[in-house]
Amino acid sequence: MKEIRTRIAPSPTGMMHLGTARTAIYCWAVARHFGGKFLLRIEDTDQKRSTKEATQVILDSMKWLNLDYDEGPVYQMDRLPRYREVVEQMLADGRAYKCYATPEELEALREAQRAAGLKPRYDGRWRPENCVGKPIPEGVEPVIRFRNPDDGEVTWDDAVYGRITIANKELDDLIIMRNGIPTYNFAVVVDDWDMKVSHVIRGADHINNTPRQINLYRALGAEIPVFAHLPLINGPDGQKLSKRHGSVSVMEYEAQGFLPEAVFNYLARLGWGHGNMEKFTREELAEVFELRGVSKAAARIDFKKFEWLNGQYMKEADDARLAGLVKPRIEKRGGVVDGGPDLVGVCALLKSRSATLEVLADLALFFYKPLVQDPEAVRAALAGENRKALEAFVEGIKPLENFTAPEIYGVIKNVMQQQSIKMGPIATPLRVLVCAADRVPQIDKTLELFGKEEVLKRIASGLALAD
Ligand code: GLU
Repeated sequence: MKEIRTRIAPSPTGMMHLGTARTAIYCWAVARHFGGKFLLRIEDTDQKRSTKEATQVILDSMKWLNLDYDEGPVYQMDRLPRYREVVEQMLADGRAYKCYATPEELEALREAQRAAGLKPRYDGRWRPENCVGKPIPEGVEPVIRFRNPDDGEVTWDDAVYGRITIANKELDDLIIMRNGIPTYNFAVVVDDWDMKVSHVIRGADHINNTPRQINLYRALGAEIPVFAHLPLINGPDGQKLSKRHGSVSVMEYEAQGFLPEAVFNYLARLGWGHGNMEKFTREELAEVFELRGVSKAAARIDFKKFEWLNGQYMKEADDARLAGLVKPRIEKRGGVVDGGPDLVGVCALLKSRSATLEVLADLALFFYKPLVQDPEAVRAALAGENRKALEAFVEGIKPLENFTAPEIYGVIKNVMQQQSIKMGPIATPLRVLVCAADRVPQIDKTLELFGKEEVLKRIASGLALAD
């Protein structure tokens, strides 16, 4: 069987859009499913809009999503000699020709066509048979046009949309090179041909380009790959997903504290389905992924579900891994992690209530901030029966050899029984004096993480403040 080869071919002109990431995931999954190859190509021929930074963002996004590629990155700008070589051959055997029409001239042509109620298209005026004896204008740098067939039609069986047919009459003679730089449609065909790409999987916004590209493949005598066009991703309102809906770039999700496996899973599931499979790993996706399962309808992003799914992954994530990921986020908030309570334990305690790493960092911060006790709040927390309860608690924990949550909880229970009080009168002063936080997860575990010495120190300073 022929090797299955897929590629993702982003243009480095900004961020990596969620749609591009999803395409990359499907390309990756097809390659992995069939034991084929997945390639990365950077389409940087648009010199005005391509930047090094945007290329780096693509590389970072691929890495973050764990989309390992087998070949590349191939940069189109490194391949100029190859495109020029193919153009020379096409010029030599009449499959392409030089066109000297100026932009003004073409604009006038389009105007006239519009005025006559016709669809604007190039009229073939520089096709060799149409310009016999016509002087070549001076000072005009010609573009190279592909001689598209005049008759017949182009048909392909799209792996997602089914059979699509376009009449050649609808297509005009495409510019394939300008100032020595290939245009998108030409570069993509030469590359996919040279890179032996078997499946071209890309956004449905390229459907219009496909018949032109198929004509180029034919002219080059190249094997035509399978095409699969993916419906676009829409926002929750059904309109094309854009910044106004929320975050649309992969690395924004990283910044917001999403886990890459959750983003991978959510995007893969968006517009593709397999039975009732909702939550899956990369390996599981690769095992069952088929283009057949891609929906023809545009997918709708649901940001709430996205975050919910991330929360599920947070719950299951390894504590030590979360600690590594959240540490810089706590430090960015001014927390001092080194020398403070064990961050792995803190993550274990807080991860199930953290939908993202950012929420986890917010919740964990009180463990690592210098304690600032508010005298008012401390006094209020010690009012009524609370002070006595707290003092009994202090006496109870002093002799503990193992300052663990169950031991601490035992002391709390004793105080509650002896003083016939509920949990509140003891938990409130502990929360306010030790943590100076509004919300504290499980108090016994929280105290364990601070350690006995620190807990006693904080209680003593609170009591002193109240007096
Ligand atoms: N550079 C094109 C894009 O980013 C690639 C399209 C294709 O995959 O052929 O849309």
